[in-house]
Order: sequence, then C-alpha cells, then structure tokens
Amino acid sequence: MENCVFCKIGAGETPATVIERGDGVIAIADLNPQAPSHVLVMPLAHHATIAELVENDPATAGRLLATAAAIGRKTGAQRGFRLVINSGDDGGQTVDHVHVHVLAGRPMSWPPG
Ligand code: AMP
Ligand code: ZN
Repeated sequence: MENCVFCKIGAGETPATVIERGDGVIAIADLNPQAPSHVLVMPLAHHATIAELVENDPATAGRLLATAAAIGRKTGAQRGFRLVINSGDDGGQTVDHVHVHVLAGRPMSWPPG
C-alpha cells in the first residue's frame, strides 16, 4: 500500500529496529515507547484493521497473535505483559496498518483512558 509507513518498514524502505521477522509477520521497536519494552507486531501485507485481517487472512492473524504473545513472554519475563490492538478513530488507531502493541517492563493501569 502506497504511503503506508508500516508497509515501507516491512519492505525495508523505511528504517526501523527490527526485533524479528518471519511467516509474513514483522516485529519492530516502537518509535515512541510507552513502557520499558514496547514492540509492534504487524503483518507484512497491508490490512487496515484487526477486523479486516481476521476476515481476509485468519492464518496470519493467528501468527500475529502467537508472535506477539511469544515476545510478551520474553520481554515481560515472569512479570507479565500487555497486548493492545487499537482499531479505528475511537480505538485510538493512528497508523492504518494493523499492529499489536506488546508492552512490558512496568505495571499497567486499568481501565485505559
Ligand atoms: P496506534 O496508535 O495503535 O495506531 O499506534 C501507532 C504506533 O506506531 C505508535 O505507538 C507510534 O509511536 C508508532 N510508530 C509510528 N511510526 C513509527 C515508525 N516509523 N517506527 C516505529 N514505530 C512507529
Ligand atoms: Zn501498510
């Protein structure tokens, strides 16, 4: 998808700190971390939202979640982690290429603001 920053990162056209890559999924460090460890996991292919990804490519949606959970286990050690998928304007999504936030390294508050 033209002009999509996450498509460009997946294609290697925009630099990013790549944590891991494989199976149609890439994990990168968030540019503006909200926790000591803040990783974004996304499909290489462009899907705007989690609902579109689940509908159009459920296998990749499963891999996305599996990768995010594995990174959470690693980065959160025994203390836990949080996965967040913002969707649409009210959901707080600012980049319209589906991604999972993997946050770890500090206690998280609830409910979200
Ligand atoms: P969201 O608000 O859920 O769409 O999250 C978008 C996230 O992408 C934010 O946490 C941004 O800090 C992050 N972000 C935006 N551009 C980049 C980039 N070029 N590299 C890494 N993270 C980015
Ligand atoms: Zn994209």
